[in-house]
Amino acid sequence: MSNVTEKTLVLIKPDAIQRGLVGLITERFERKGLKLVGMKMMTLDEAVLREHYAHIADKPFFPGVSKFMQSTPVVAMCWEGLGVTDAVRKITGITKAREAEGGSIRGDYAMSVSCNVIHASDTAENAEKEVKRFFKPDEIYGYDKSEYMHVYAEDERAV
Ligand code: ADP
Repeated sequence: MSNVTEKTLVLIKPDAIQRGLVGLITERFERKGLKLVGMKMMTLDEAVLREHYAHIADKPFFPGVSKFMQSTPVVAMCWEGLGVTDAVRKITGITKAREAEGGSIRGDYAMSVSCNVIHASDTAENAEKEVKRFFKPDEIYGYDKSEYMHVYAEDERAV
C-alpha cells in the first residue's frame, strides 16, 4: 500500500550552517520531489543529543559529537513522501563523508566522519520517533502540493 505521507527528519549540522550550505542542501531535497512539511532553526542541548544519539552515547567520540552539535544552532527539517526515509538516506550518503558516493550530499559537500553536513533518519520507524523529538504537532504542516501530480503516478499517490 502506498504512503505518500511518510515523514522523515533531517538536521542540517553546524558545519553546513558555518559553510553556508543550507540552501544547497534544502534544494537537493526539493528537486527530488519531496514535500517540506516542517522547518525551523533550533539549538540542541546535551539531553536531546543523548536521546537522539543513544546508539553512540557510550562511544569515545560522543563528547566531541555533542560539542560539535551544540556549536551553532541546527536547522531541523521534516520531509514527506513515498518511501521518504530510504530516499533521503540514499541522497545523504554514508557516514564517512570522504568515502560517500559522488552525487550524495555527504559525497559532494563533506570530507569528515563527524562533520558530515546532515543527519537523516535511518529507518521509517526511527523517523517517526525523531520527527516527534524535534517537532511539536503544530509545527508540522499539511497542505496540497500541486507538483505531486507530476512527481507520482496516480496509483502511487493513492493512500
Ligand atoms: P549516521 O549519521 O550516518 O546515521 P551514525 O548514526 O553511526 O551515522 O553516527 C551519528 C553521527 O555521529 C555521525 O553522523 C557522525 O556525525 C558521528 N560519528 C559517527 N561515527 C563517528 C566516529 N567514528 N568519529 C566521530 N564521529 C562519528
